[in-house]
Amino acid sequence: MQLTDSLGRNINYLRLSVTDRCNMRCFYCMPKEGIVKKGHEAVLTYEELLLIAETAVELGIEKIRITGGEPLVRADIIGFLGKLASIPGLRHLALTTNGLLLAEMAADLYRVGVQRLNVSLDSLNPQTFSEITRGGDLVRVLAGLEASEQAGFPPPKINCVIMRGVNDSEILDFADRTLSHGNSIRFIEYMPAVKEDGWQRYCISGEEILQRIAGRYTMEQVDKGPYAGPSRDFRIPGAKGSIGIITAVSGHFCSECNRIRVTSTGQAKGCLFSDAKTDLIPWLRPPDREGLAEVLRRIVSTKPERHEISQDGYTHKNFTMSQVGG
Ligand code: SAM
Ligand code: SF4
Repeated sequence: MQLTDSLGRNINYLRLSVTDRCNMRCFYCMPKEGIVKKGHEAVLTYEELLLIAETAVELGIEKIRITGGEPLVRADIIGFLGKLASIPGLRHLALTTNGLLLAEMAADLYRVGVQRLNVSLDSLNPQTFSEITRGGDLVRVLAGLEASEQAGFPPPKINCVIMRGVNDSEILDFADRTLSHGNSIRFIEYMPAVKEDGWQRYCISGEEILQRIAGRYTMEQVDKGPYAGPSRDFRIPGAKGSIGIITAVSGHFCSECNRIRVTSTGQAKGCLFSDAKTDLIPWLRPPDREGLAEVLRRIVSTKPERHEISQDGYTHKNFTMSQVGG
């Protein structure tokens, strides 16, 4: 079965957030004091998350990415992932993590059937890393990257949010790293999420990032594999890893968008930056599989055509990325 929206886009990718809690406080994602924690009853149970996943796969979703908050801080996440991995028809199960707990958990993640990991890493400098994440320990994240390869995973993709004046001086350090490491470094344009005056000062376009790398290296375009997502990928000839740019802000990839999102409290969204959301709780408590299928179909059919962040006059919407899952 295929899920197609009103513009003919094939929607086959669900980003499912399992928690809005996190063991870091990246300044571009969460306020310093953290977010107001949702009560236990507000957060979906694993049974409810599984019902959403199964229903979505029956409708045509082929890939699920588990995100958060930090998904690895939720109790018994491994057991839940094992159940997800065995949903018939699900072709690809991936997880995005800040990597702090990966060294301890990579082997279990691999064992239960997670197929790919994305690790967020915005600096290779311990001091800058700690400042961006408000206290995160770079050494643990690097150990997590190694542990995941030892566990059997392909080298995790590294998500790196580049911000002018914060970590843009490291663009070439990240590019250098692809010469010796097999990870794909994906440079992500900073998006306004935490309300901060003058957020535009951090913005640096994917094109500028590429130009800076091209000042030192030649790069060849890399073919995208299946489920590759919205990055444009390049490789320095002979390098083990690759370089991607995700131009969420400057070069909308909305026309190719294939995803829907569900937050850990059951809010479904057709677009990360749209205010429109649908509360799935009425179809989960008590469970109503047919009703849930119908509402998911409706969310797909009313998916917005594009987001408006880069438009003049864009008004900042104050939401934390940790609640929507990035
Ligand atoms: N905690 C996990 C992590 O950090 O990988 C998963 C959740 S996090 C919200 C998912 C992704 O969103 C991360 O790669 C993070 O860098 C990205 N993100 C968060 N806030 C962002 C922002 N303001 N602009 C661009 N990307 C952002
Ligand atoms: Fe936590 Fe990920 Fe947000 Fe950083 S980006 S605060 S690690 S949820």
